[in-house]
Amino acid sequence: MKTIGLIGGMSWESSLEYYRIINEGVKKRLGGLHSAKCLMYSFDFEEIEALQQEGRWDEATAMMIGAASTLASAGADFLVICTNTMHRMAEDVQLAVDIPLLHIADATAAAIQSQGIGKVGLLGTRFTMEEAFYKDRLVDLFGIEVMIPQISQRQLVHDVIYDELCLGNLREESRSSYRSIIGDLVKNGAEGIILGCTEIGLLIKPGDSPAPIFDTTLIHAQAAVDLALS
Ligand code: GLU
Repeated sequence: MKTIGLIGGMSWESSLEYYRIINEGVKKRLGGLHSAKCLMYSFDFEEIEALQQEGRWDEATAMMIGAASTLASAGADFLVICTNTMHRMAEDVQLAVDIPLLHIADATAAAIQSQGIGKVGLLGTRFTMEEAFYKDRLVDLFGIEVMIPQISQRQLVHDVIYDELCLGNLREESRSSYRSIIGDLVKNGAEGIILGCTEIGLLIKPGDSPAPIFDTTLIHAQAAVDLALS
């Protein structure tokens, strides 16, 4: 079994899910008392969020590279960044270490393609929804068309992530707002919905969407299990 290097704490609410899903996956595949070999570098998210908000991406990238190098030298065989947003610097992180990085968008695209879906709605932080780093990868490498909510809806989705989900606060009112945003995306042609933030799966479940949902936490963690056991 390979050792998984997790870059987490962004937020720890979702890192906990990664840890659970990965261990459950290994146990299911190998049985008995088997569990995952893994290392986690867990950031103080308050520090990361401040850099994001102030657009200090170079400093955030340096911190991510530092975490990746620490995990690589501690014996990780490959890296998993437990957040969609911080894949913004995935290429820089990959260039800085000798071990492979399992990209969250690639794992998600494979899941989407396996269902024969070509057009999806994307929910995530404003960085993930609005910047090119995530959408372009889906379009350019996989030919998947990506729709995003309209601007006020994007702000709501973003605010719920930072003000509620990353604090472990799950509110019924926010669930119903997300449901209506998902409904609009589907009405406008989305055949599936990417939960492109690793905390959204805590709030939104398959029954909340009229189209299939792609929970990036679940998909990414399961891909990590597959790679660890390959
Ligand atoms: N976990 C979230 C994501 O998947 C947001 C937190 C962050 O900014 O990293 O994008």
